[in-house]
Amino acid sequence: MNATPELLNTQSVERRQRFEDNKLSKRLHRQVGQAVRDFNMIESGDKVMVCVSGGKDSYALLDILIGLRERAPVPFELVAVNLDQKQPGFPEHVLPEYLRARGVPFHIEEQDTYSIVKRLIPEGQTLCSLCSRLRRGILYRVASQLGATKIALGHHRDDMVVTLLMNMFFGARLKGMPPKLVSDDGRHVVIRPLAYVAESDLELWAEQRRFPIIPCSLCGSQPNLQRAQIKQMLRDWERRYPGRIDNMASAMGRITLSHLMDRNLFPFATLQATGLADPLGDKAFDDDDGCAEPQAAQALRLQRDGPPDVT
Ligand code: SF4
Repeated sequence: MNATPELLNTQSVERRQRFEDNKLSKRLHRQVGQAVRDFNMIESGDKVMVCVSGGKDSYALLDILIGLRERAPVPFELVAVNLDQKQPGFPEHVLPEYLRARGVPFHIEEQDTYSIVKRLIPEGQTLCSLCSRLRRGILYRVASQLGATKIALGHHRDDMVVTLLMNMFFGARLKGMPPKLVSDDGRHVVIRPLAYVAESDLELWAEQRRFPIIPCSLCGSQPNLQRAQIKQMLRDWERRYPGRIDNMASAMGRITLSHLMDRNLFPFATLQATGLADPLGDKAFDDDDGCAEPQAAQALRLQRDGPPDVT
């Protein structure tokens, strides 16, 4: 029987979809692998505690780390941890069922932080900041109990750029969200393996992998309005000028202290003429006011992501 034009069309659409899915998978694994290497996030023998909230980002983080572990040059363990905060309507069975099916060791920590934030924060105000602080403390304790050497969080490239802008706009300082840091209690190393990953890719990945998403807003808290506004601003901007978010993210790794204004980080007060010409000096940055950046950013992206997928 000859294939009808409709059937041929469906087959071609399916082939195209498989091709796109494969490209996305490769890109995500490559970017996470690159971030892990660039910041030496995971070392041989590490026990990585992956914090899984039930949102798309943490599902993707765990999923990609499982994939990378299979081909990693060094052995490391994964343990997924979820904090059940006792929000009304939290579907307790969803994560254990998913994690069991994935064959990942996991721990569900039950702590009623929901009641605490509800009691302490006046009605109508956003609960997220206290909720996150409480959650952080609990997760550090659980990491110690489980003997985890690293704590992996699902923040991605766009979160980092939004945080940078929030700190500039509302905190008047140049400070982002680090890919790797030592926790406030000095006892843990926190890593963000999705540091190079675009949120739009995580949305597609979550759809493709059919993660059983649990909404964070079960508690009824309003999202942080300022954060939501900046996120929207970046999305609009990215639509009009594709590549801007990526450039901003890359900029966080290419800092020229002599061209900022922090007197503690650069010795402006004692700066003297050296009498020696520096071919890479001031000219390299001021001649074109950054107009040559696309080329530099492209080179950096190529180094980080490898050549574009052509398969
Ligand atoms: S939305 Fe609710 S559960 Fe999520 S961080 Fe905010 S307060 Fe916590």
